[in-house]
Amino acid sequence: MIAAQLLAYFFTELKDDKVKKIDKYLYAMRFSDETLLDIMKRFRMELGNGLGQDTNPTATVKMLPTFVRSIPDGSEKGDFIALDLGGSAFRILRVKVSHEKKQTVQMESQVYDTPEDIIHGSGTQLFDHVAECLGDFMEKQNIKDKKLPVGFTFSFPCAQTKLNESFLLNWTKRFKASGVEGLDVVALLNKAIKKRGVGTGTNACYMEELRHIDLVEGDEGRMCINTEWGAFGDNGMLEDIRTEFDREIDRGSLNPGKQLFEKMVSGMYMGELVRLILVKMAKEEFLFEGRITPELLTKGTFETKHVSAIEKSKEGLTKAKEILGRLGVEPSADDCIAVQHVCTIVSHRSANLIAATLGGILSRLKDNKGNPRLRTTVGIDGSLYKMHPQYARRLHKTVRRLVPESDVRFLLSESGSSKGAAMVTAVAYRLADQRRQITETLDEFRLTNDQLLEVKKRMRTEIQNGLGKKTHDSATVKMWPTYVRSTPDGSEKGDFLALDLGGTNFRVLLVKIRSGKRRTVEMHNKIYAIPMEVMQGTGEELFDHIVQCISDFLDYMGMKNTRLPLGFTFSFPCRQTSLDAGILVTWTKGFKATDCEGEDVVGLLREGIKRREEFDLDVVAVVNDTVGTMMTCAYEEATCEVGLIAGTGSNACYMEEMRNIETVEGDVGRMCVNMEWGAFGDNGCLDDIRTEYDRAVDDLSLNPGKQRYEKMCSGMYLGEIVRNILIDLTKRGFLFRGQISETLKTRGIFETKFLSQIESDRLALLQVRSILQQLGLDSTCDDSIIVKEVCGTVSHRAAQLCGAGMAAVVDKIRENRGLDQMDITVGVDGTLYKLHPHFSGIMNQTVKELAPKCNVNFFLSEDGSGKGAALITAVGCRMREQEEKS
Ligand code: ADP
Ligand code: MG
Repeated sequence: MIAAQLLAYFFTELKDDKVKKIDKYLYAMRFSDETLLDIMKRFRMELGNGLGQDTNPTATVKMLPTFVRSIPDGSEKGDFIALDLGGSAFRILRVKVSHEKKQTVQMESQVYDTPEDIIHGSGTQLFDHVAECLGDFMEKQNIKDKKLPVGFTFSFPCAQTKLNESFLLNWTKRFKASGVEGLDVVALLNKAIKKRGVGTGTNACYMEELRHIDLVEGDEGRMCINTEWGAFGDNGMLEDIRTEFDREIDRGSLNPGKQLFEKMVSGMYMGELVRLILVKMAKEEFLFEGRITPELLTKGTFETKHVSAIEKSKEGLTKAKEILGRLGVEPSADDCIAVQHVCTIVSHRSANLIAATLGGILSRLKDNKGNPRLRTTVGIDGSLYKMHPQYARRLHKTVRRLVPESDVRFLLSESGSSKGAAMVTAVAYRLADQRRQITETLDEFRLTNDQLLEVKKRMRTEIQNGLGKKTHDSATVKMWPTYVRSTPDGSEKGDFLALDLGGTNFRVLLVKIRSGKRRTVEMHNKIYAIPMEVMQGTGEELFDHIVQCISDFLDYMGMKNTRLPLGFTFSFPCRQTSLDAGILVTWTKGFKATDCEGEDVVGLLREGIKRREEFDLDVVAVVNDTVGTMMTCAYEEATCEVGLIAGTGSNACYMEEMRNIETVEGDVGRMCVNMEWGAFGDNGCLDDIRTEYDRAVDDLSLNPGKQRYEKMCSGMYLGEIVRNILIDLTKRGFLFRGQISETLKTRGIFETKFLSQIESDRLALLQVRSILQQLGLDSTCDDSIIVKEVCGTVSHRAAQLCGAGMAAVVDKIRENRGLDQMDITVGVDGTLYKLHPHFSGIMNQTVKELAPKCNVNFFLSEDGSGKGAALITAVGCRMREQEEKS
């Protein structure tokens, strides 16, 4: 009993003693946390150098982009082949990813020998060999005539230019085939496969991975960076921690001076490191009583798997005896303990160094994210990590110690980089497929020149219908006469009141027009809110509210006692029978007050004024905003005979020949017609170009089935179209991680002003993202790209459609006048036209292309609703005086 205890005690003493001696002997391989933190710091510096534009060319850690922008998101599916070249064995795998209920990955693989002479032979031989094995594999799998995508895990430092183009920088590990460095390995592989006639639809792609460590960070679509950290130290950065053994390994390698970090940490060199240490210790008679055998002196006799075996806690010492026995060194129990400890030190050093570099990456990620704590998952692969009994645990522990402010989860990426390659292939395919589907969706919005010409032609037909006596009643584009028979001549003068109803704001204005040598227009105005309940209440409430606002304005201006002439800008479709009578045909935009449709709005206004019994006004004209816009422009520029609004709604007017306006008596001169072109398409004539998104917007609007053209072109609806597309793309999993947020479901959140912001060329992607985030749409950079594209497509179509309508108008005017070529000015108003970065340019261009015989000059016309209304009123007063005189 006592003897046994004594013996145990003695044994422990002996063990401790030996262990201490070895610790001392290999002190250079044992790092304190300070040293590890220092290495971590150095690695971070190297990372920075690798990523920097200027520093990259000379950096040792190359940080190569892989062009893999998204990590697998679980939606991959399909049948893939993966080639895995560069690991310990050359393997070919078939990976099937399916989605029935639960994602499953099914794999079949085969290992192929790669003989030394091929590894060290020519590149052509190597790739021919790869292709031959692939052919064999496909034969066995019975997939010879299937065109499966091939993922290529090529674990050597490569510079990637595209997902499927990758130039080998230099061979590492045991490979040294000639004539490959500097070439595109994917192309080489494709060539070899073609040569062999293997029928694959090779879309070879490459996956990062140097040391089989794959950083999977967050869930965001970032580009995966292949650090190639194996080259860490190639610039001398690690000289202070490299030992004589590391130098010896490097001298004996195929690539001396290169991949110095890799040679310190990778499984490929670990056994050899231990062997070199054992040789030295034996020579110094520190081990095996100085016995040195030829086996011990032979390179490669001590393998990394032996290190793993010897470090096993239970049978480790027995294994040591066995392994060393095979080397003929007749180890004592003491030797076995010593060798076990050497293994521990060498493998522990590897885990420590990996922890330091990994720590460098993690701390960088943490700083990138700006969070005090980093939560992330590191996917790790590699047999050392998987097979070694202590390696993983030590690595985790050290990482957590070095980067304490992080919650790191380590995930064993099962079955190696090959599945990774297939996954990346799958991701590439998914992205390509997604891209195709998004493009297909948006293609519905892309109109060809022929389609636009067709729109122009149809608009022309509808114009004709609106003007014709017999066709007018059933026409959709109503072509209302306005009784405005001439544009201003400059002699207009006086003080006028104007009302602007139907735009975003309701306004009351006082306009003072001075004629003579110095023509001036002075305006005063006040904006009033129209509460939603008034907009959609009774007509009487609406007009009482309007009159109340006028009363307030007259008080404000101190003009309650003069009977001012008034122009009423009322921007809704009206059937006019005279300048001062307009029957509301139908409300549009946001209005829906009862008892107004079918009534003369001037009458409703006059009744409202009477009800109040406080002041009197002379209502001279009811004015559409398009007409006001044209008149304002014409006051400055005599060639202006067209008005256009691209704001909340969309509409146009122009000077038509009286003889063509069959709905008004008389054939002499011209009259401005308010086209009310927003209703274009209400008879279904645009249904072939309307999309499901247009129909969705229409269905949810206040006036379903009405104003179909307007709903494709104007500010009130563009954002809604975009929102409906985004919802659909999200449902299909292409956006916002497939999550339809409450925000996205909210009608109207996507205002057209956001299209203008998002489409601005000056904006970086990050700013787009921040706009979306302000909107409450949590988006990634990939999302932002798609959203921007959606916005661009929708506004582009809007501008083109508007241009096609305008082309029909100007060509009609030209034909009216029997001209081959015509110069004309269009007065335009509307925030969409004014503030959207591309709308006006695209529209102008479209008009140019569709109406080449017209030289159309677009003239921004400010405040047609106020100034224009006053001018029309002035013209009306002048005409009335003339009539009275005659
Ligand atoms: P209205 O047509 O109502 O008289 P506007 O011409 O000012 O008034 O147009 C207002 C409409 O313009 C809004 O309903 C909105 O859809 C759109 N809009 C507002 N801001 C922008 C912007 N920055 N870019 C494009 N469209 C805008
Ligand atoms: Mg307006």
